[in-house]
Amino acid sequence: MSHVFHRHCHTPLPTVVSGHGIYLSDSDGKLYLDGCGGAAVSNLGHNHQRVKAAIAQQLGAIPYAHSGFFTSNSSEQLAKRLAELAPDALKHTYFVSGGSEAVEAALKMARQYFVEKGKPQKSQFIARRQSYHGNTLGALSVGGNEWRREPFRPILSAAHHIAPCYAYRDQQPGESELAYSMRVANELEQKILELGADNVMAFIAEPVVGATAGALPATEGYFKRIREICDTYDVLLILDEVMCGIGRTGTFFAFEQEVIVPDIVTVAKGLGAGYQPIGATIVHDDIYQAIASGSGFFQHGHTFMGHPMACAAALATIDTIIEDSLLDKVRLRGKQLLSKLNDTLGPLPYVGDIRGKGLFIGIELVANKQSKAPLPSCSQAHEAIKTVAMNNGLMCYPMAGTIDGKAGHHILLAPPFIIEEHQLDELVSKLHASLLQASAQWM
Ligand code: PMP
Repeated sequence: MSHVFHRHCHTPLPTVVSGHGIYLSDSDGKLYLDGCGGAAVSNLGHNHQRVKAAIAQQLGAIPYAHSGFFTSNSSEQLAKRLAELAPDALKHTYFVSGGSEAVEAALKMARQYFVEKGKPQKSQFIARRQSYHGNTLGALSVGGNEWRREPFRPILSAAHHIAPCYAYRDQQPGESELAYSMRVANELEQKILELGADNVMAFIAEPVVGATAGALPATEGYFKRIREICDTYDVLLILDEVMCGIGRTGTFFAFEQEVIVPDIVTVAKGLGAGYQPIGATIVHDDIYQAIASGSGFFQHGHTFMGHPMACAAALATIDTIIEDSLLDKVRLRGKQLLSKLNDTLGPLPYVGDIRGKGLFIGIELVANKQSKAPLPSCSQAHEAIKTVAMNNGLMCYPMAGTIDGKAGHHILLAPPFIIEEHQLDELVSKLHASLLQASAQWM
């Protein structure tokens, strides 16, 4: 009996013992191709010498000192590096230990900003129905993944939700992409007017939706309009790049491709590439200055924030991404992967949509390709695919997400940035074989 409280209480898991490049091995010596980076975490693959050496060096110097008493060289250097990479006035970084914590910090920063600015009535968040922002109660409150929210609904705080940007399901026949983008983005304006602009603090969204949609980019012009609306009504724009940031979509921040700059951006997962747990909330200078020149104290903290070893791992990760030109590689391999998936999986009767940016790719499963009817919500397709794929030596990330509030099934692919073209072929062929086998269970 395992004394670890596993999330899936009854599913025995293989024991991982080592990793190399894009492969992991279990205690029976079985190899698994990491087709999803865990949950879009392992962007440099496994056993990366440079990152390990940076952690070892920090361990030798000083592994931990509480951030209330000391700063550290690694956290200072990492914040400086992020400030160089982030556009505009996104110049201040608050370090935490993961994605949910980064989102919590962002939400509370938004609130404290308006309190410091003398607008304490601003207290409402708006988010989207197709979203996931983390499992802590604040992050879960703004998130829109109904399946994850359901048991906790009575203890969540109030948040307001608008439609996602989901062209595959929502764009009407004859409606241009731009017209569609404006229609859904304008829902934000309608919601702000309904609540009263004086009451709304912030809008939070993932530039490319992850854990509820496989991977779902916005349509052209959507985020530009969102930015305009936020500016008009003095509403902060928080972009959650916990999953899609740190190069995953082919640019360091996914929002760079939208040609906008948020007021706050959250990152985690790929920031430490899985070598250390770390998240970060990067904020615009105006927000920092409002707090710094107001009470001078952000009313929020965690024991492990700014952990020197986590910061050292993140710094080495970022330096590797930049110096090894991995962003170029992500863009190239992403295009190759999309095209291979379209050729191989596209014809399958239950593959409705294949989409994504860079090496952040979603596959939407449907019961009927023409009507786009989702698989029945009771379908355990995601569990079946995961089990079969693992048997076949492939890690992919099938999920029971939501399709605008209802159940939907998607598979996320997010392999390490170092994946080679022949390894993409192996990934696609293993996934194809796994889908053929697993679909027998729901067809
Ligand atoms: N935001 C987004 C966009 C995420 O995808 C996730 C995790 N899937 C989180 C927040 C929460 O991150 P964590 O699991 O590290 O708390």
